Amino acid sequence: MAKKTAPSQRERLHLLDQFKPGTPAANIAVNLLRMMIQVDTTNPPGNEIVLARKLAVWVKDQGYDFVTTKIFESEPGRASLIVDIPGTEPAGHPSWGFMSHLDVVPAEGTWTHPPFAADVVKDEHDTFIWGRGAMDIKYMGAVHLVAAFTLLKEGFRPKGNIKILLCADEEQGGHKGVEWLANNQFEDIKVDCCLNEGGGFKLPFKDDIVIQTGEKGIFWTKFKVHGKGGHGSMPPPYDTTAVYKMVAALNRLKKYNAKLIINPEYKATINALSISPFLKGLFKRKMLLRGLLKLAGKIEHVNLSQIVLPLVSDSIAVTNFHSGMKENSISPDAEIILDIRTLPGHDRETVNAMIRQAIGAKLFDQMELVASDNQKCTTTTIDNDYYHIIEKITREIYPAVNLVPFLSQGSTDCKYYRERGMFAYGFCPAIKDDDLTYDQLLGLAHNVDERISITNLLLGVDFNYRVMKQV
Ligand SMILES: [Zn+2]
Repeated sequence: MAKKTAPSQRERLHLLDQFKPGTPAANIAVNLLRMMIQVDTTNPPGNEIVLARKLAVWVKDQGYDFVTTKIFESEPGRASLIVDIPGTEPAGHPSWGFMSHLDVVPAEGTWTHPPFAADVVKDEHDTFIWGRGAMDIKYMGAVHLVAAFTLLKEGFRPKGNIKILLCADEEQGGHKGVEWLANNQFEDIKVDCCLNEGGGFKLPFKDDIVIQTGEKGIFWTKFKVHGKGGHGSMPPPYDTTAVYKMVAALNRLKKYNAKLIINPEYKATINALSISPFLKGLFKRKMLLRGLLKLAGKIEHVNLSQIVLPLVSDSIAVTNFHSGMKENSISPDAEIILDIRTLPGHDRETVNAMIRQAIGAKLFDQMELVASDNQKCTTTTIDNDYYHIIEKITREIYPAVNLVPFLSQGSTDCKYYRERGMFAYGFCPAIKDDDLTYDQLLGLAHNVDERISITNLLLGVDFNYRVMKQV
């Protein structure tokens, strides 16, 4: 007798019939995403206008006069598209925003399938659409549009207003996209609750899926140091040159263990996880955490420290190092750029104090500090109707699901909403593909061989369709 295996996650999804693979809506979603990937919106330069215009035509071709599109250019070529679906009773019903970004990061490296070809490739369990932006995050724009127009085709009209926002420049901080819109066209992007990228991933515990309820602050910081220059043939003492001063600072930074802070957001995440109460207790013990993560990471073959430590500490990454122009000249200058991500409540003062402590006052005082970005951590609460709707609908599709709120290590455009007091969640549910390991999945965004499965594409359509249906 054949051994019975437990149904896979994919088999346990309750997708609506109209969103099963091979249905008209599925084909529309695949074709729309392919078109979006094929328009190269690598940022920089972005040039999102080409895709914004194509999508505006796509919307117009659907043939609904009451649906309007607006394209806003923050500067030539840097365009965001806003699709407005007016509600029938907007006064008494909350408005919802469905946001994604049009730009993608550069497609460097060697790809198995070319990054802008949008090849559709069958794997063992699923079919994947390959290309830059497939996962981050063009698929979400496609998903929002297909969900909305499937509803309209069925004769549905929302009571509250729906906005679909496909924005520029997220990959460079959103300054020419959502930040610009928030500062210049606020009424056009304003909604009561916004769903965006940044969450929805399946964790390796039971049926846990994360929902992004906050994101860490960003403090980009340049340090410049001066030293003795001169001819390469007659070097001055090493310690007096800019490069070696900077290397000394970097060596101290490498040894620095940022202070661990078991903050309320982290506690909420740990408390929500489907792990034993004993493990939950251990994960909240500051003294044990580093050792525990190393051990658990070895067992699970995932670098857990890299994922969890940023949730309980301000992180510092050296992303740039420059010095010198010529082979035979010792440069009097050296500079580094640090990408610093902070926990709730931390500001520029906290950051500068941390760096001073890390590299020591003597070196710190010799450096010139240039702050290029100061964005504090933002969070959204979960005890409200919006969150409950998201949770209820996710459960309709995936009955066993357990939502885990979390403070994202990375940054999205949600912050521009939260800063202005609106609700914003990073969420579009996705399951772990049977064809990919966790390590592969973690490595897909901003990397070679980015791709998305048809299952996750359709799961996204189904989820957003059901959310829009209650607006
Ligand atoms: Zn993204």
